[in-house]
Amino acid sequence: MRKMGLVYDQIFLEHNTGSHPENAMRLKYILEALEDYQIRDKMTDIVPDEASLKQLSRFHPLRYIERVASFADRGGGYLDPDTVVSAKSYQAAVKAAGGVINAIDQVIAGDVESAFAFVRPPGHHALADRSMGFCLFNNVVIGAMHAKAERGLERILIVDWDVHHGNGTSDAFYNDPAVLYFSTHQQGNFPGTGRVSEVGGGAGEGFTINVPLTKGTGDTGFYYVFTQLLEPVARQYKPQLIIISAGFDAHHSDPLAGLALTCSGYAKMAEIVKNIAGDVCDGRVVLALEGGYNLGSIGHAAAAVINVFGEYGAVIDEPGRPPADFTQPTMRMPIDAAIETQKKYWKL
Ligand SMILES: [Zn+2]
Repeated sequence: MRKMGLVYDQIFLEHNTGSHPENAMRLKYILEALEDYQIRDKMTDIVPDEASLKQLSRFHPLRYIERVASFADRGGGYLDPDTVVSAKSYQAAVKAAGGVINAIDQVIAGDVESAFAFVRPPGHHALADRSMGFCLFNNVVIGAMHAKAERGLERILIVDWDVHHGNGTSDAFYNDPAVLYFSTHQQGNFPGTGRVSEVGGGAGEGFTINVPLTKGTGDTGFYYVFTQLLEPVARQYKPQLIIISAGFDAHHSDPLAGLALTCSGYAKMAEIVKNIAGDVCDGRVVLALEGGYNLGSIGHAAAAVINVFGEYGAVIDEPGRPPADFTQPTMRMPIDAAIETQKKYWKL
């Protein structure tokens, strides 16, 4: 069994979005599943601090931070067409970012080997000066910038397996070779960015990897991406820390998307990342919750991933009936295109 941290705070339930798909029930179902599988007690609690203005403003301008705070103070509403804010959303959002920072610090300090930050609101669509796609502050970007600025890390790998492209994270590090951004996402889904040709710019060229996937791609497709592209790149890049933007909306049951991962597919991806991390960065992996909107499956998928990183030995159920996997050869085409594009930068 490996020592694994769990970031959580009640305030994350008070980011009240009503009947929005990104709602507090998601966290309740995840925590219940971890209890049902008898995993939660084995994890080390990490109590999140609020991210400081200095930490937030490494990415977000103060003007934007103040705008979110005052909008919440006035009771909230829709900050953009997708993103709901309630009275407590600012407090939740600063603790979500702070929680990812705490997880990173504890992993770097060696207090835990890996950690999962179960935070809301999610972060990977948040741009520097604009909320987007249910996200207020970009938790993973703020965490990675902290790891660079305060902990002196020079190579951080972000694996974003949420079904949507993390456009905010990609933007933040597009010209920065110190952070390699790797994203799998469903082609044509929100927000529309993340083409294969987006490979980074300037000194960061070759340090952004996008793998848009065809609708219906499932475990076999993800395994192909992770073993044929992510793994060789990661072993050449040798990150000092791996951060996972862990969305569970690529699961076959998700109402907002059309990929076909199963819980065992998620476990396989976790295993590949864990093995890489074990070889190149003392196992240091921090996961931060992004999307995942089927309450009947999100807890199982999260438990499947944690079960791998913590080596807890639980047997995870597969909710619903997974569709037939990777039956069309066309599903491999965008993956092969991404591999071809990246051959300019990596030995593949
Ligand atoms: Zn998503």
